[in-house]
Amino acid sequence: MVPKVIAISNQKGGVGKTTTSVNLSVGLAMRGYKVLLIDTDYQASCTVALGIDLEYDNKSIYAALVDLAPIQDCIIPTKRKNLDIIPSTQHLVGAEIELITVTEREFILTEKLEVIKPLYDFIFIDCPPSLGIVPINSLVAADSVIIPLQCEFFGLEGMHMLLDTIRILQGRLKPELYVEGILMTMFDHEAEFSRTIMSLMRTEFPDEVFDTFIPRDPDFIDSTASQIPVIATGKTDSIGLKAYDRLILEFLEKYNLRKRKRG
Ligand code: ADP
Ligand code: MG
Repeated sequence: MVPKVIAISNQKGGVGKTTTSVNLSVGLAMRGYKVLLIDTDYQASCTVALGIDLEYDNKSIYAALVDLAPIQDCIIPTKRKNLDIIPSTQHLVGAEIELITVTEREFILTEKLEVIKPLYDFIFIDCPPSLGIVPINSLVAADSVIIPLQCEFFGLEGMHMLLDTIRILQGRLKPELYVEGILMTMFDHEAEFSRTIMSLMRTEFPDEVFDTFIPRDPDFIDSTASQIPVIATGKTDSIGLKAYDRLILEFLEKYNLRKRKRG
């Protein structure tokens, strides 16, 4: 099967995981791709950003993981054409404990996704900034990982931790997992450290870092309150919108190239 499940992950919080998950998913759906977004953060930011009520305790990623409901029943259509979501709830915290005794517990999501994979062109998984059973399930279920990285020095630590984790997973649980790309976020043209980190990263990871970077733009903060993702505002002069639009083109180009290589 063609790879299509992409985890958006970084063990650090506030780096743009949710913003990237939402804008990539909505942007690809606007281009006609069938997209499913899975929210695996108990803080449920994706779920809220897409205007989904948090009353779906029996229709959530928690319900699917602990077998309260079949995963296909946990899919909820969003207001946006071509975009469905499996929402999160705060109950997801409990899953970390409830799943401890399950055998092959790292593969629960992998197995469940098999049923719904054929329905979509892309499945994005927004990961939490932690590393328990649920995030491990997300990485193991994924074909590839996008790592958003904030352009600041403290940001590098989370990324190195995640790269170590990916190496361990490749060795033990999922040899074919690969890094789709590292996405530099919240880039500030005025700040020297932003430019320094960008060039450091491009030197250290020339193949992984996306050419596209996401600049700091206050529109992203407003979009959380308005529940209209930046990519869908139609504001053609928005630097945030232009950046995610460019990312989508670069993602599709990289993705299709890889798909063709795999035959
Ligand atoms: P994470 O999911 O990694 O915790 P978020 O995507 O929720 O990170 O982003 C953290 C905060 O930063 C949010 O308030 C979001 O609106 C804001 N934000 C995200 N990307 C940008 C950006 N490029 N410019 C300015 N603010 C941003
Ligand atoms: Mg988040």
